[in-house]
Amino acid sequence: MSQNVFQFIDVQRVDPPKKPLKIRKIQFVEIYESFNQAQVGMQADRCLDCGNPYCEWKCPVHNYIPNWLKLANEGRILEAVELSHQTNSLPEVCGRVCPQDRLCEGACTLNDRFGAVTIGNIEKYITDKAFEMGWRPDLSKVVKTDKRVAVIGAGPAGLACADVLARNGVSAVVFDKYPEIGGLLTFGIPSFKLEKEVMQRRREIFEGMGIEFRLETEVGKDVTFADLLGEFDAVFLGVGTYKYMKGGFENETAPGVYDALPYLISNANRLLGFEKAQADYIDFAGKQVVVLGGGDTAMDCVRTAIRQGADKVICAYRRDADNMPGSKREVKNAHEEGVEFMFNLQPIGVELDAHGRTCGIKVVSTELSAPDANGRRNPVVIEGSEQVLAADAVVMAFGFQPNPQPWMAQYGIELDSRERIKASEKADYAFQTSNPKVFAGGDAVRGSDLVVTAIYEGRKAAEGIMDYLAV
Ligand code: FAD
Ligand code: SF4
Repeated sequence: MSQNVFQFIDVQRVDPPKKPLKIRKIQFVEIYESFNQAQVGMQADRCLDCGNPYCEWKCPVHNYIPNWLKLANEGRILEAVELSHQTNSLPEVCGRVCPQDRLCEGACTLNDRFGAVTIGNIEKYITDKAFEMGWRPDLSKVVKTDKRVAVIGAGPAGLACADVLARNGVSAVVFDKYPEIGGLLTFGIPSFKLEKEVMQRRREIFEGMGIEFRLETEVGKDVTFADLLGEFDAVFLGVGTYKYMKGGFENETAPGVYDALPYLISNANRLLGFEKAQADYIDFAGKQVVVLGGGDTAMDCVRTAIRQGADKVICAYRRDADNMPGSKREVKNAHEEGVEFMFNLQPIGVELDAHGRTCGIKVVSTELSAPDANGRRNPVVIEGSEQVLAADAVVMAFGFQPNPQPWMAQYGIELDSRERIKASEKADYAFQTSNPKVFAGGDAVRGSDLVVTAIYEGRKAAEGIMDYLAV
């Protein structure tokens, strides 16, 4: 670190510049430019090296943040990348998509007055730069075991599990029904937050480590769960949550009303060249679009619609701006790109034209109640406040619930009252389910959450599996 102990005052927190709006509004490319080494050095040098780093504790994978900030500052990128991979299987992804303001950067000692260290962007820089320099994980000293594990789901939980297994000499075979790895990293999170090439590069790295991917293979359809239990020494379930929450209002299944994820998947398929038929693409070019919801998925939908060339894009949310669950950073980005926000509006029905197609969304105004026992202020409908917002496409972005697969009950895999797979870090073998040979982690266990928590659980489950297999 520098000798200047007041670096954090002399040098302000700086985020990487954003691409110009004229590019952002039409292209599916990441909106932030990368730092260069000089910027990384200046920003990393702001770290106070507190001694008891809250950032590390708040980071769900407990990254050694001050240590790799110091290495990055000194330009020791290859040492930094080795260190960052000791705790994280996908640091370049977390650096891009973690809500840092709620996690590491939110806990940074400098966060109150001086501006937190830009931890996420430096994490991203370290990995991207190391790959550019030709760095690859070195598994030459790993002693191979004869154990084989099936991983169901190539999302962050499954990939993290396979990564830790491979680094410990256990063969991992990853099954996924999609044609590319990444789960929601590839098919949910849009390219303006995470470009598709990032996961394609990771796939090459993982394959180079000996991880085998069997894609376009749905367990329960193309291969049975019984076959996997017979063939492998253990199975990890990282199957995510894919039941879309509905609004429960009139005409919500009418033509022109879409669930958020199929909309985003159709756009990802087009970008990746996986579209099977032109009709599978949901195109909002020239349309008036209303997205219902105020979370990150809603922000991903409104910003995708802008890039598709929609005429007008409105985000309608039933609480106010202060009570939006989405990341403030993403809301600001959506504002900049031309999304119109309408608050305190609750949908009550879709309006149809003479052909039965969507032509508007009927909403009522709300006001917020006093905080409930959890401190949350609930929307209360104002009588007689109905209005119709013109729309030829409506997107419901209300969140996701677990979708337990039919074969789970058959093999004694218990679920909790919210249909999440029961598995705990505190079990004798971390993340073991009620079937001893089966482990689980990520959204399927926690409910819809974050990339970094899925990574944490996948990694811990791999440790549980290795303890169980005594390797
Ligand atoms: P998933 O990523 O859902 O992966 C599960 C995988 O299992 C899928 O690939 C699926 O095809 C596969 N699968 C399921 N069943 C089978 C089967 N029977 N056979 C074969 N394969 C199967 N989090 C953040 O931290 N930051 C963000 O910016 C962010 N943005 C998001 C945006 C959207 C639109 C969405 C929907 C989520 C976002 N999240 C974000 C949340 C994050 O993506 C998830 O928490 C995370 O991906 C969960 O990881 P997972 O591995 O548990 O599940
Ligand atoms: Fe911050 Fe996420 Fe990186 Fe942890 S993994 S240091 S929370 S960006």
